[in-house]
Amino acid sequence: MAFDSLSEKLQNVFKGLRSKGRLSEEDVKAALKEVKLALLEADVNFKVVKNFVKTVQEQAVGSDVLNGLNPGQTVIKIVNDEMVRLMGSETTEIALRPGSETTVIMMTGLQGAGKTTTTAKLAGKFKQKGKKPLLVACDVYRPAAIEQLKINGEKQGVEVFAMGDKNSPVDIAKAAIEHAAKNGNTVVILDTAGRLHVDEDMMQELAAIKENVDVAQTILVVDAMTGQDAVNVAGTFDEKIGIDGVILTKLDGDTRGGAALSIRAVTGKPILYAGMGEKLSDLEQFHPDRMASRILG
Ligand code: GDP
Repeated sequence: MAFDSLSEKLQNVFKGLRSKGRLSEEDVKAALKEVKLALLEADVNFKVVKNFVKTVQEQAVGSDVLNGLNPGQTVIKIVNDEMVRLMGSETTEIALRPGSETTVIMMTGLQGAGKTTTTAKLAGKFKQKGKKPLLVACDVYRPAAIEQLKINGEKQGVEVFAMGDKNSPVDIAKAAIEHAAKNGNTVVILDTAGRLHVDEDMMQELAAIKENVDVAQTILVVDAMTGQDAVNVAGTFDEKIGIDGVILTKLDGDTRGGAALSIRAVTGKPILYAGMGEKLSDLEQFHPDRMASRILG
């Protein structure tokens, strides 16, 4: 399970704090040093860790915490609250256009991150909310990707719009939106092509879609297992094309957690959902408070 190692380490630090009646400034500093190491080992961004520890330390030492009734517990609460803040505090919904207006969502990400699977998972979520989503196969480079989207769409009971690989993604997206208007699909989800690495061609293609199509939400799918690489990818995508939110996949694996704890702080963009498995139902809304509880135990 994700975060197991980080959780265990933090819980050990906190056990030590809880067992003390009173805490000195040195006790807090020693505990936070352990917290810092645990976060770095979990592959959390170095700057994020530095700021995190500094903020917790200031709050813990600067207040009446140390003299309070339950200093250990108070420090733990400060750590918890800061961790929730780090991940964005609030649960963020994908903003849909009001009424019968169409919301176009563009899914982006590197190949293998889980984009096509997540696109179908997301369609299922909208369907559950009573929407009629349309999935659009804009990856014209991999026929297998078009096929995969069709199969997953069928499993979800959601229509898939595809035009093969002879048209440009921009033309496919435009045709899909026309189709959606006629068929009452108020949510249109574009599955775009991924590449193995961030490259100029991919960025230009995504930028071209954004220039020519009224994209309401650009979502980046990243693999949590790739740790700080995922954070760097998010930074680059945001800089080059602008993203509105991130979906972290493979949080069911033994990821160390660094991506989940760094992406929001580094990019300023919210984590919307977490992929928790290969099944199309394995997508959970991302709640920073619940995630912090899961980590801190
Ligand atoms: P794409 O190239 O980004 O479109 O990636 P795919 O959607 O084809 O997914 C790549 C692989 O990751 C597939 O084997 C998926 O089943 C798997 N996958 C996607 N999301 C998750 C997840 O949340 N957890 C796990 N364990 N596997 C996932």
